[in-house]
Amino acid sequence: PSGSADELLEGLNPQQLEAVTHRGPALLIVAGAGSGKTRVLTHRIASLLRNREAWPSQILAITFTNKAAGEMRERVEQLVGDSAKGMWISTFHSACVRILRREADQFGFTKAFTIYDSGDSRALIKRLVKDNEADALGLTPAAVQSKISKLKNELADADSYARDANMNDPVERMFTTLFREYQRNLQKANAFDFDDLIAQTVYLFRAFPQVADVYRKRFRHILVDEYQDTNHAQYALIHELTRPVTSSDDVGGGMLALMDEAEGASLTVVGDSDQSIYAFRGADIRNISEFERDFPGAKVVLLEQNYRSTQNILTAANSVIRNNFDRKDKKLWSDQGDGEKVIGFTGYSQHDEAQFVADEIESLRRKGTHYGDMAVFYRTNSQSRALEEIFIRSAVPYKIMGGTKFYERQEIKDALAYLVSVANPADEMALRRIINKPRRGIGDVTVENISSFAERHEMSFRDALAHYEHLGVGPKIQGSIAQLHKVLLEAQEILLPSNGEIPAPTSVAEGLQVLLNKSGYMDALRASRDPQDEARIENLDELVAVTREFARNNPEGTILDFLTEVALVADSDDLDDESGSVSLMTLHTAKGLEFDSVFLTGVEEDLIPHRISAGEPGGPQEERRLFYVGITRARKRLYLSLAMTRAQFGEVTVAMPSRFLQEIPADILHWRQSPGDVNSRGGTQSRALNARRPRQGSGSDQWGVKPLAPSLKPKSTAMDKFPGLVTNKVRDNGDLELAPGDRIRHDDFGEGRVDAVTGEGAKRIAHVRFDAAGPKKLLIKIAPIEKL
Ligand code: ATP
Ligand code: MG
Repeated sequence: PSGSADELLEGLNPQQLEAVTHRGPALLIVAGAGSGKTRVLTHRIASLLRNREAWPSQILAITFTNKAAGEMRERVEQLVGDSAKGMWISTFHSACVRILRREADQFGFTKAFTIYDSGDSRALIKRLVKDNEADALGLTPAAVQSKISKLKNELADADSYARDANMNDPVERMFTTLFREYQRNLQKANAFDFDDLIAQTVYLFRAFPQVADVYRKRFRHILVDEYQDTNHAQYALIHELTRPVTSSDDVGGGMLALMDEAEGASLTVVGDSDQSIYAFRGADIRNISEFERDFPGAKVVLLEQNYRSTQNILTAANSVIRNNFDRKDKKLWSDQGDGEKVIGFTGYSQHDEAQFVADEIESLRRKGTHYGDMAVFYRTNSQSRALEEIFIRSAVPYKIMGGTKFYERQEIKDALAYLVSVANPADEMALRRIINKPRRGIGDVTVENISSFAERHEMSFRDALAHYEHLGVGPKIQGSIAQLHKVLLEAQEILLPSNGEIPAPTSVAEGLQVLLNKSGYMDALRASRDPQDEARIENLDELVAVTREFARNNPEGTILDFLTEVALVADSDDLDDESGSVSLMTLHTAKGLEFDSVFLTGVEEDLIPHRISAGEPGGPQEERRLFYVGITRARKRLYLSLAMTRAQFGEVTVAMPSRFLQEIPADILHWRQSPGDVNSRGGTQSRALNARRPRQGSGSDQWGVKPLAPSLKPKSTAMDKFPGLVTNKVRDNGDLELAPGDRIRHDDFGEGRVDAVTGEGAKRIAHVRFDAAGPKKLLIKIAPIEKL
């Protein structure tokens, strides 16, 4: 690192400069997307370090994802070099895990606690709902889980809930019971769920001020990115950490004595209320709007210049977000020139849309854009499948960020449950998960026997395994239990040696292999004829590779560190971070990131805005912010694509263009007529397709787009020029006569027999039983079918 203090400040605009150099108790930076908020945070940290105003250990920076944390650390290291080591740059969750791993035994947990992800909590809640017959009252596990999560994010526990609830109402009474039992089970299992990580840290700090003081003394500078998405518990955590130290008797010497601990840590937060997209998880925009009240003496800095995107992209973003009422208008501007127009595309089906995206990616790459600089966004995880299929077929290298992937696969969860059973013997759920995997004859009855034996003798479920001879089960099952017990013990010696020796870095890999091999888990997969099991073996090999890599990166890492890392692999994180592939992710995961070219797919009603949130208070506004987040990720090129029909859950439905398209002015969006049509500017190329365009003026209704309030609607909107269907496969079967019994062929589904025809005119639907693909409903007018 050769940069001087001045170099750190070079290239910042005056507002950014002020945000980097201001010193004081509290600083709020509010600004639109791409205005350099994250960059300001990074430079601020670097300037604190370089000016020797703070040791790295006195800095706590909070980012939204582990990936963002990694990037921020990298950037700070580039600016100041190795002196950046020792800083805490992490997500709220990782920071809390680190604190809890140190302090858990202060309040009835041990350092070896397990972290329950949302699937784990769901499994536990399911069991409780069943045991309590709560479904009879209409309480589903999903509803209970989300309510508990909401309450925890507001720092409410079962007792405080019970105080406010109407206990005459059987539903509320039952919910209170479930909440209580859920918490009791977590405690018994020595486990925290995701929301607990934060809430329990807050409780810890409140109950033990002397513990909190340790961290208050330590962290003198706290910086939070994406502050608009903090919820109440996270807000409270920040508040606790920035309080003045309570006990002043033991102020240390040296550096600390120089610090005025009578004052709390200095707090810097950055955010953009237009990008608040986690209200559904309890995020509270008020944390921003009331910042000045909560932190008196706070300085506020506004940034207005956008350095990320071209003007056309910004205009699209601005003209969409201004339709949200209840916001302060801020105009983002860019001096990068208009750039290319936003490109729109409509396909017949999601496959057609995906093919367009794949073709376009290839064409961009030929012109010099790296795969790693391109991203494809969608609203819901399930939309990725069609994209993946086409990408695989077209040999486009891609990676999926977040979502159901590696760590959510059954076999991976099994393997991790084996590890957890060893690392945290109190975690009964982990052990129950694998007690009969592979099948070893330990059924529900035996599990009950073990459980009641454990209760009678006041020991843990895990310890009860050692008493296999006294569980009242037959000799064969005794043998199975003994065998499992032995394997767990053997792995335990490797992972957590009883002689107190520090395990070798490779211990996690070794332990995992012992567990998988000696338990018979691998053998069962190898013996199976199910082709899926072959993939499972590969995945488990991959997991072993992950543990090896972990050992290389963390020479002193233990099984607990490994499990922590795995449990916290957050949404936007991926195992391999090579830049040679296109990134696929949900809009939520895209926050804070940027790419040269962005494909925002499925721009349809019911997807964005999403059907579920459309009906909720504030829902459409939050969806609009999400759309805004998506648009503002793009540096140079933005694509908005949609399909006319979308197959979901085996049903084909007719999709309507998203209302948000109507908020984009016509002159900055160019509807692409066919893949590869790069040079056409504005005008429509294909006359044949032109015929399908809705007539101007009447357009919006015909395409099912809800009209906007007249004042905000651009004079001419992108929808006025909507070309309708653009596809190679398009056909108009409007006149096709179909009757039950007819045989047809479909481009994707093959041959089938018509069962029935319903509807009229353009909305006639054929109910077809395909020979291979099963029953489907097709919109006759546009389905790629022919009568045989
Ligand atoms: P978001 O709201 O999306 O999180 P942000 O406000 O955090 O955006 P950054 O990611 O910090 O914005 O910056 C956006 C891009 O602009 C980055 O590539 C950053 O390096 C660049 N940038 C920011 N400020 C400047 C500047 N003064 N000079 C040059 N480039 C800049
Ligand atoms: Mg940012």
